[in-house]
Amino acid sequence: MSDARIYLDHAATTPLAPDVLEAMQPYFSRDGYNPSSIHAEGRRAREAVDSARECIAGILHCRPKEIVFTAGGTEADNMAVIGAARAARTRGKHALATAIEHHAVLHAMRALRDEGFDVTLLPVDANGLVDVERFADALRDDTVLAAVMYANNEIGTIQPIAELAEVARSRGVVFSTDAVQAAGTLDLDVTKLGIDALAISAHKFYGPKGVGALYVRDGTPHEPLIHGGGQERGRRSGTENVSGIVGMAKALEVAERARIETNARIAALRDALEVKVTAACPGVHVNAKSVQRLPGISSLTFAGVDAESLLIALDLAGIAASAGSACAAGSLEASHVIAALGAAASNGGTLRLSLGRGTTQEQVDRVASLLPSLVASQREGATLSV
Ligand code: PLP
Repeated sequence: MSDARIYLDHAATTPLAPDVLEAMQPYFSRDGYNPSSIHAEGRRAREAVDSARECIAGILHCRPKEIVFTAGGTEADNMAVIGAARAARTRGKHALATAIEHHAVLHAMRALRDEGFDVTLLPVDANGLVDVERFADALRDDTVLAAVMYANNEIGTIQPIAELAEVARSRGVVFSTDAVQAAGTLDLDVTKLGIDALAISAHKFYGPKGVGALYVRDGTPHEPLIHGGGQERGRRSGTENVSGIVGMAKALEVAERARIETNARIAALRDALEVKVTAACPGVHVNAKSVQRLPGISSLTFAGVDAESLLIALDLAGIAASAGSACAAGSLEASHVIAALGAAASNGGTLRLSLGRGTTQEQVDRVASLLPSLVASQREGATLSV
């Protein structure tokens, strides 16, 4: 991407950080051996995987053996949901998730439904927040699993995970959280959060794509989804992605070190952007504004605007942004997250601007000055074509 372009789609993916690439480099070539081999080369690769596991476990405040490496967030979410539910199916066949989970969780729940599970999707309020009492009421005697994402990928809403997990634990329900958007930004201390499973994905925090991890609390009933050579203590077979795992650990370590300052800087830029855009643009609604949300996500619904046309106009103006989730394979279907928020969010086109480490004040100023006129011309165009 040329310097002149402005990348505001960090929630879709982040660029690989140079120090992360540097840490990965030896494992593509010089040290690219199989960690299961017993020779010295293999043992070196095993050491790299083990030390990455220790590093991630340190940040999550768990034991290294509770970390399972996966091929990304989607696989970690599927493992968390399907693996835990299948392992508990003799106890009960009810699972719970929020209506605004990522498709990686929602479609895993759909697969459980096909296996005979009963699945409840819990509604959220207009800010995308789960109500703790409503969550408690939705748990049943036969509930075996509850999945609530830590922070939403489209609107940024942060859920009261510790409170929800406590309710689930008191009812003997496995509590799993999709922390794919939270990792690198929020506190991932699984002991403080009191959760049983947590999924992360490296490419959301300046690590490589196609590698993730699932924390599974020791003793949590769990069935593997992928069978084979018995790697990852039999929980996820397949030769480990050594370079990816090393890169993920490095990326998480770097992000964790600067988390608080980076969050403050990005939130200030995001807030300034919203102030300017809302002042210059009539008919704009800022989603999830009145609740705790991720610092880098701004979800804006513009009345009378088609999101896809606005995205194209922004792209032509040199700004890379997104409507709902970019994970829906390039499609712009109506977002289930925005629909779940109700009228204020659904009444218009929703734009997701997601800021990151490299976002500058100049970039934000440029977007704030361009966006209102792009919105106005979209609206004019819509009026003329009626
Ligand atoms: N969960 C959330 C909240 C996400 O935002 C994403 C990706 O956008 C995923 C899961 C899937 O992760 P991955 O792209 O690593 O498969």
